Amino acid sequence: MIYPLDTHRNEAGHLVIGGCDVVDLVQEFGSPLYVYDEATIRAMCRSYVDVLAENYPNFSVTYAGKAYIDLAVLRIVADEGFGLDAVSGGEIQCAVAAEFPMERVIFHGNNKLPDEIELGLSAGIGRFMVDGLDDLRLISQVASDRQTTANVMLRLTPGISAHTHDYIRTGALDSKFGLPISTGQAEEAVRLALESSGVSLIGYHAHIGSQIFDTEPYAQTVEVLLGFAEQMHDKYGVCPEVLSPGGGCGVQYVEEDDGLEIERLVKVICRTFKDGLPAGVEPELALEPGRSIVANAGVALYSVGTLKEIPGIRKYVAVDGGMADNIRPALYGSEYKVDIASREADGECSTVTIAGRYCESGDILFKDVSLPELRNGDIVAAATSGAYNLAMSSNYNMALRPAVVFVKDGQATLSRRRETYDDLLAVFPGA
Ligand SMILES: *Cc1c(COP(=O)(O)O)cnc(C)c1O
Repeated sequence: MIYPLDTHRNEAGHLVIGGCDVVDLVQEFGSPLYVYDEATIRAMCRSYVDVLAENYPNFSVTYAGKAYIDLAVLRIVADEGFGLDAVSGGEIQCAVAAEFPMERVIFHGNNKLPDEIELGLSAGIGRFMVDGLDDLRLISQVASDRQTTANVMLRLTPGISAHTHDYIRTGALDSKFGLPISTGQAEEAVRLALESSGVSLIGYHAHIGSQIFDTEPYAQTVEVLLGFAEQMHDKYGVCPEVLSPGGGCGVQYVEEDDGLEIERLVKVICRTFKDGLPAGVEPELALEPGRSIVANAGVALYSVGTLKEIPGIRKYVAVDGGMADNIRPALYGSEYKVDIASREADGECSTVTIAGRYCESGDILFKDVSLPELRNGDIVAAATSGAYNLAMSSNYNMALRPAVVFVKDGQATLSRRRETYDDLLAVFPGA
């Protein structure tokens, strides 16, 4: 799947998502515009929950909010029974604002700040994911000062290299994330957690990276988690209540990608988990997908502006967005499926490069895509834009972040309004 479920063209040749004509959406909400299909998000959530319920009923799933966060997506995933991985005070505040069930929130991060830990404790979040020894000391200190105990899990670095981009690979020993098992730091964290009054050690976790297409590294991760848990049990008598092999399920961006099917991945994880557990022990199995919940549910819409042809070299088509709303092509060389959304793709196609409008030569959104002759005012759609696009957006060049709408049964609801010049100026004293 690349586009949201039930994406089609109407008689006018316009793309229709969730029952909404995208040309109408751009007219009403402006461009660029990010459109999320609620039914697709719910279907993705259910593909995790259904397979887990069938194969290992003591489970939990948390949505990694860093993939894309606003109040609408939080309410949908909460409604589907998910928790939330938050990685900052800002994400915790979003959860509070969305009236998210805070006991289902897990606070991750390799350098949590004291006031964020305070915020997490006062907001009643359920779990803290310890990323290192200093992080553990700080969480314990802040919790003790408040005369409370924080439930903590330890993020382990399992020493597994998944085949993905260097920037999104996190399971290898040389990573800023996690407690390495091989150096003894993970064990030291277990000892420290057991003797610290501010924390209660409830389990272990590893997250090996993102956009992973292979089930094997997950099976290995589960084995490493179980092996570590057994060792710690033998040495210190500690039994984990919960084990989590993280998130990272790969999704399809372009036709050549083989997305990793959620069902296949979850089955492998459940099987490896059950096979490795000692008899009579059934800890909670926790998963934490981000990208695979929202990526294919989101479509970015841009309007075509200026055209430039360098004969024999390249045709540039500039649109009204770019690296400020989607830095992934510049950062990772990411590719997307791009289509004309405002009319049927008839006529001959040629290879064009869709450029952003920001002041960097590297601000190229979609290099060498095949499209029919484009004209000023056409709307183009980029599929699989729901994860890590707007989440990484910026105000570079004083760009205004685009609006976001959620579509369902022909209704579009604004979930994030377009920024205004006043929003930009509001941070400057005296403006
Ligand atoms: C980013 C992240 C996830 C989610 O990864 P996806 O590739 O978006 O599924 C899960 N767990 C942790 C710790 C993460 O940092």
